[in-house]
Amino acid sequence: MDDCPCYVGSGRADSDGVSLRAKQRNADFLISGGTGYVPDDGLTVQQLFSGSDGLTYNDFVILPGYIDFTPTEVDLTSALTKKISLKVPLVSSPMDTVTESDMAIAMALLGGIGFIHHNCTPEFQAKEVRRVKKYEQGFITDPVVLSPTDVVADVFAAKARHGFSGIPVTETGALGGRLVGIIASRDIDFLAEKDYDTPLSKVMTPREDLVVAHAGVTLDEANAILQTSRKGKLPIVNEANELVAIIARTDLKKNRDFPLASKDASKQLLCGATIRTYGADYHRLDLLVQAGADVIVLDSSQGNSRFQIAMIQHIKQHWSSLQVIGGNVVTAAQAKNLIDAGVDGLRVGMGSGSICITQEVMAVGRPQGTAVYKVAEYARRFGVPVMADGGIQTIGHITKALALGASTVMMGSLLAATTEAPGEYFFSDGVRLKKYRGMGSLDAMQQHLSSQGRYFSDKDKLKVAQGVSGAVQDKGSIHKFMPYLSAGIRHGCQDIGARSLSILRAMMYSGELKFEKRTLSAQVEGGVHGLHSHEERLF
Ligand code: IMP
Repeated sequence: MDDCPCYVGSGRADSDGVSLRAKQRNADFLISGGTGYVPDDGLTVQQLFSGSDGLTYNDFVILPGYIDFTPTEVDLTSALTKKISLKVPLVSSPMDTVTESDMAIAMALLGGIGFIHHNCTPEFQAKEVRRVKKYEQGFITDPVVLSPTDVVADVFAAKARHGFSGIPVTETGALGGRLVGIIASRDIDFLAEKDYDTPLSKVMTPREDLVVAHAGVTLDEANAILQTSRKGKLPIVNEANELVAIIARTDLKKNRDFPLASKDASKQLLCGATIRTYGADYHRLDLLVQAGADVIVLDSSQGNSRFQIAMIQHIKQHWSSLQVIGGNVVTAAQAKNLIDAGVDGLRVGMGSGSICITQEVMAVGRPQGTAVYKVAEYARRFGVPVMADGGIQTIGHITKALALGASTVMMGSLLAATTEAPGEYFFSDGVRLKKYRGMGSLDAMQQHLSSQGRYFSDKDKLKVAQGVSGAVQDKGSIHKFMPYLSAGIRHGCQDIGARSLSILRAMMYSGELKFEKRTLSAQVEGGVHGLHSHEERLF
């Protein structure tokens, strides 16, 4: 059956609806004795959305195409914004139960990106961004530094805060001061508690015993010195012996382990952060830019507002290269205003999130499939990539979002309850869970006033929640879950016959990609059914 030409469905559509590549293969088949008949089957994307009903991911399926490559050959590179591309098109949502620095680090290492939430003080949010930007890099140009008069207890405190040891010691206790030594775990691990007030000058490895590299050294040369010296940290000093940077051996290992990692030009992990569009957010934005954020999401459930347009213009005026993603939008008309204002990407979704009650309470929103297609189809004319945000329950939903024109997919519930998501695990009825809540839930808003901006105006006296608070089941580490998601997308693309996400989108816009609507009973058939019980082990 696999070789039957009736199943061949790739290539640009001809006037009679039969794809050119299918016709070619059909001719080949005729020569070898085939029937030569390829029926016009399925709906083009235009036909799928030609009705007046809004559709979401479960309402349709994609018809399979022709496979002549393996899943590992599928290229998942896709644009997050006009200037930033990711090797894996997956994004963690700026929610306080989803993305802080641990999640953002893991997402970036694995080829995606995380957006640090703003349900916290601007200082905390900037600190989380800085932690991501400092995590893995060639030269660490903003290292933690101590002074010779600091004491052993300060090293333990720094270790607890930043999670590493091997701290350079300079005369001033800051970068730029003259290097006088390094203090490492092995220098202090066996000291008794009564010695914790010993000054570092007495226990550190002094400057004369250190291997250092000089400013101007290339990353490759510095790496080679680290390899041969077998030290954990390599300080980089200038001619006056002043500390200008350090390189960590652990970073070398990380570089090797994460070939897909999303990085900037100085090899730092990419990190996003979110702000609202109110007055106080201008200060928050300043701190985030100083911390090194690469891309800002403007967090609003209805992004088509003069406040958002003013914020976009402000960002473009002050930091023209800072990438800004506007939203949320679900119509081309909303998208137009934000594109005109200068956004580098759009976030699409209103009312589709798992914790979201916006459509029920506000009576506005749009089914997510229609929203993604309509906005992406409009935004592509201006080269503005679209991020499908919310409503993703399965890998199939991710592939469908990408097949409708989204360049990246943002997830909350699917990534919540992983090890890297904020919050502690707890048990309920023997199931290991983590809390997951909407940023517009009363629960989240009581924690910090900041999240109110997305769902309420500051002047609102009576709050109307647009989200709920709940829990999701433990999914283990992002380091296993993300590769599972990307492998699933690759398999989906293989079944469709798309070697890359750009080919997938081109097939969709050309009419070559075929869809079919699913009745409710077809949806039941498409899931697990008719079993007394089953175990859902996915990877
Ligand atoms: P999920 O992936 O289906 O769980 O949806 C996550 C998305 O829901 C987020 O990225 C937000 O766009 C959206 N969201 C987060 N909190 C709320 C809320 O309280 N109400 C409505 N939507 C929310």
